[in-house]
Amino acid sequence: MENIPNTARTKVRRQPDQGRYDRATIDAILDAGLVCQVGIVEDGLPVVIPMLYARDDDRIIMHGSTASRLTKSLSSGTDVCVNVTLLDGLVLARSAFNASMNYRSAVLFGKATEIKDLQKKTEAMRLFSERVMPGRWAEIRGPSEIELSATRVLEMQIEEAAAKVRTGPPKDNEEDLHLSVWAGVVPLTLRRGTIESDTPEIPIPPYVLNDERF
Ligand SMILES: Cc1cc2nc3c(=O)[nH]c(=O)nc-3n(C[C@H](O)[C@H](O)[C@H](O)COP(=O)(O)OP(=O)(O)OC[C@H]3O[C@@H](n4cnc5c(N)ncnc54)[C@H](O)[C@@H]3O)c2cc1C
Repeated sequence: MENIPNTARTKVRRQPDQGRYDRATIDAILDAGLVCQVGIVEDGLPVVIPMLYARDDDRIIMHGSTASRLTKSLSSGTDVCVNVTLLDGLVLARSAFNASMNYRSAVLFGKATEIKDLQKKTEAMRLFSERVMPGRWAEIRGPSEIELSATRVLEMQIEEAAAKVRTGPPKDNEEDLHLSVWAGVVPLTLRRGTIESDTPEIPIPPYVLNDERF
């Protein structure tokens, strides 16, 4: 299992036992999430924007309109921090102080680079599509050259990263264990709802119906 070396900014200091630096854990979090939070500093002020992303081996890719402030900043080589958080449960302790959450989260640092080659951009679009709904790229209309030129695609190498994972029951103080208060974990998962067809004349494809991720 490949570990990512700690750097001064990726070493988990607060609850270090929850820190994970192996690629398997980091990749699994990245592959389970659909939305990342992208943080940059612009004109001296921080801004955090949610984006779709996809992991492709050693990199994550993101995209957006060429007119978007965020993609412009990212393509200028600014420092970026990317977070993906998966919420697994509410941890209800006997005290307010020890209430917590079960989660898996990854924080990546680096710089993004723009992918300009049209073929590589198309491949990135395929990766986004397959990330959102595996099997869909084969039947939808692919991006035209005009659509590709209106889209900025960015990649960021996974080199400086850490994950933090909390599992298990509440960690109450010894002196609170006698309190007559219910405590435990409320597990949370992302579940799909009832599918809404926009094309009643076309049956829902099996890859949508049988998608077991949610
Ligand atoms: C769903 C959720 C809810 C949370 N709620 C709270 C809250 O209400 N209050 C609170 O104080 N903390 C909360 N945390 C924990 C929070 O993310 C931080 O880990 C914690 O606050 C310590 O921050 P720090 O900057 O002091 O960490 P440090 O340990 O000093 O961070 C050092 C480095 O460790 C890594 N790191 C730190 N935290 C994470 C993380 N969560 N995931 C991946 N890498 C990480 C980063 O590389 C960071 O630069 C929550 C986390 C999650 C996922």
